[in-house]
Amino acid sequence: MNYIVLDLEWNQSPDGKEQETLQIPFEILQIGAVKLDRDLNLIDQFCERIRPVVYPEIHYKIQEILQLAPEDYQNAREFPQVAKDFFSWCGPYSYFCTWGPSDLTELQRNLKYHGMKSPFSFPLFFYDIQKIFSIVYEDRKKRRNLEFAVDYLGIPKDQHFHDALSDAYYTGMIMKHIRKRDILKNYSIDYYQHPKKSGEEIYVIYETYSKYISAEFDNRIAAMQNRSLTQIPCYLCHQNTVQEIPWFVGSSKSYYCLSRCKEHGYLRGKIRFKKSENGKIFCIRTVKQISSENACKISEMQRTIREKKRLKRREETMVTHKFHSV
Ligand SMILES: [Zn+2]
Repeated sequence: MNYIVLDLEWNQSPDGKEQETLQIPFEILQIGAVKLDRDLNLIDQFCERIRPVVYPEIHYKIQEILQLAPEDYQNAREFPQVAKDFFSWCGPYSYFCTWGPSDLTELQRNLKYHGMKSPFSFPLFFYDIQKIFSIVYEDRKKRRNLEFAVDYLGIPKDQHFHDALSDAYYTGMIMKHIRKRDILKNYSIDYYQHPKKSGEEIYVIYETYSKYISAEFDNRIAAMQNRSLTQIPCYLCHQNTVQEIPWFVGSSKSYYCLSRCKEHGYLRGKIRFKKSENGKIFCIRTVKQISSENACKISEMQRTIREKKRLKRREETMVTHKFHSV
């Protein structure tokens, strides 16, 4: 079993979002990867540029970042040939590692656009080294760029950043600094291949929280009526919990709730909504054990949001009233 550390460079519509092809907002220009053995030693590398066919003109910002001339792509092969060779280089059993969650999404989108069969299984587990760097060295929340992590760990900067192979190489070097068990236990789940129908839902338990990925729903109302989503068992003892504050819309349009387990105390539930490519939605629910101080913060958040809504309603009533008086 090897680790494939993958990095992609991509192009986008040079004429802005209005001109973009919806099925492929980012067209891959380069695949770079290093292969690590089970002890995370570098054993091989893959790098190839790709000739863009959807957006043949390179966006000026991408041009600036990648520092490549348009001629660099003209003689390159097209995506289907390069992708096919890349996956045969990967081999059938590999763990994928990336810096951030977007590379695997864009890779799968490009495969779909070109009508290629995806070699990835469902669910697709992978290692997001950017997230793991934050868990191991920082506060679990911050997301740093690759160069920050390279500097932080004192890795020699002998290659250009923003080249797919160099970035994959640096990500591999960062992995060498992290204990392997810290990488393995903090695996991520790819959302591009999310559950579609009931029975495909994904539930995983991490050290400090649990994650549930729902099937698809037509809208938020339908989602919030689904008891498998809204009822939260304690992820530490699997017992039922008592709901102290029912689900409410909190900051950043996520839903929050507060429950209590007899044995493990307060649990905070959070639901985020994600759009599916077919216009439906699916939900990511996380449940986390929290202190009583943080439980108070949830109830404060609920009070503040209620108050804001009340004031907004009052303003609206006043405006209507004024309008009628005129
Ligand atoms: Zn419990």
